[in-house]
Amino acid sequence: MRLRCRRCDAPITLDDFLYIAYHAHTMGANRVEVHFQCGRCGHRAERMLSQSAWDELMLSYLENDERTVDEWIATEQLGPITADEIRAVRRALRHENVLESLRRWERTRGEGQVE
Ligand SMILES: [Zn+2]
Repeated sequence: MRLRCRRCDAPITLDDFLYIAYHAHTMGANRVEVHFQCGRCGHRAERMLSQSAWDELMLSYLENDERTVDEWIATEQLGPITADEIRAVRRALRHENVLESLRRWERTRGEGQVE
């Protein structure tokens, strides 16, 4: 699973995400809404990903990004969070489903997009 810009075909990186929202569904067909802006050409796009596609995407970033995910989460685009929260996310990422970890993290922050 990789995201690419539909205009110039550049790969979308973690830094290109503008918005991420988790949409729970009663029948289990959970979706993750992502908005991103191509780092090369500036083209903006939105995608609705299945839970499995999102998990694959995050795993590909974990494997290929030289930074760790907690460093990325600490960036301002997701708002200021504490060192404790970063540690909690890192712990969860190591042991559990990536999406479930992010969902729980959003819930504990009290400002998540969980429905
Ligand atoms: Zn582009």
